[in-house]
Amino acid sequence: MKCDFHQHTVFSDGSVWPDIRVKEALMDGLDAISLTEHLEYQPHKADIPHPDRNRSFEIALKEAKDHDLLIVKGSEITRRMPPGHNNAIFISDANKLLVDDSVAVFREAKKQNAFIFWNHPNWTNQRKDGIATLTDMHRMLIKEKLLDGIEVVNDKTYSDEALRIALDNNLTIMGTSDIHGLIDWEFGVPKGGHRPITLVFSKEKTEASIQEALFNRRTVVFYKNLLIGRNEYLIPLIEQSIKIKTAKYTGNTQVLSVDIENSTNAEFSLLNKTVYTFHNSGELVTVKPGEIVNILIKTKERLPAITLLFEVISAINEPGKHPQITLRSAVTTN
Ligand code: ZN
Repeated sequence: MKCDFHQHTVFSDGSVWPDIRVKEALMDGLDAISLTEHLEYQPHKADIPHPDRNRSFEIALKEAKDHDLLIVKGSEITRRMPPGHNNAIFISDANKLLVDDSVAVFREAKKQNAFIFWNHPNWTNQRKDGIATLTDMHRMLIKEKLLDGIEVVNDKTYSDEALRIALDNNLTIMGTSDIHGLIDWEFGVPKGGHRPITLVFSKEKTEASIQEALFNRRTVVFYKNLLIGRNEYLIPLIEQSIKIKTAKYTGNTQVLSVDIENSTNAEFSLLNKTVYTFHNSGELVTVKPGEIVNILIKTKERLPAITLLFEVISAINEPGKHPQITLRSAVTTN
């Protein structure tokens, strides 16, 4: 499921009415979104009074009525550091989250069975050095199971340190747009850009199923054409995305011609990790969205089947590290 669980409208500090968020999500082919208005920061309140903090959700839900888009009820708990900003999604009533105490609000959200994640832990307004760092309060929230996930990607930022925190503390890896203006403008969609999204590996397209997958850490983030996640979800995803279409020797040579097909809208950068060298390119192969790329491989002898190993440079499984994939195919003999 393609999801964006951090967005704003005029019901907090965003610039658009909630129906626009629904239309943008439909244009981007998303499966689920959440409008997470700041509970404690309401700059448009004088112009748009809304004593019921669920209004943004209700308007979006009405707009999405005849579409295959899930609207998840959420709110942004907006505090100084610690705990900073945190999103609670799959809540039942945003009004009940208007609680003064910074920890009590997490407990109330959990009472509503919320999935809670720490927003932009690298935000320079709250961390001048941009280095996501756990505080004692965050450690306590994790220990008490009041914090489930962390944004590794927010808007136009990526955090290696947040990824480290997610892996070390078994938190769900999240990526969101945190959009306040328009998606197309912020992320250059007309020029081929895309908003950051969280790919959620849920069994079904239902709220309950997506929530279950989030609680069980089954996510990969897609950001500026980068895939970021744990190997167990990242590797199968990539191995389903790029496949060997054909493998055949050229004439009576030992040079194998392999077509690699990318069936997704992500571009993949692949670094050759086999013992063979290529006849028509260096060790780096780029496969654009929907493209078939031909590589000529000098296998020295005619093999009945080929196994290709690539380090995927356009994916991150740990800070500074890339996953390795295996592509296998029989060699066609005719
Ligand atoms: Zn936000």
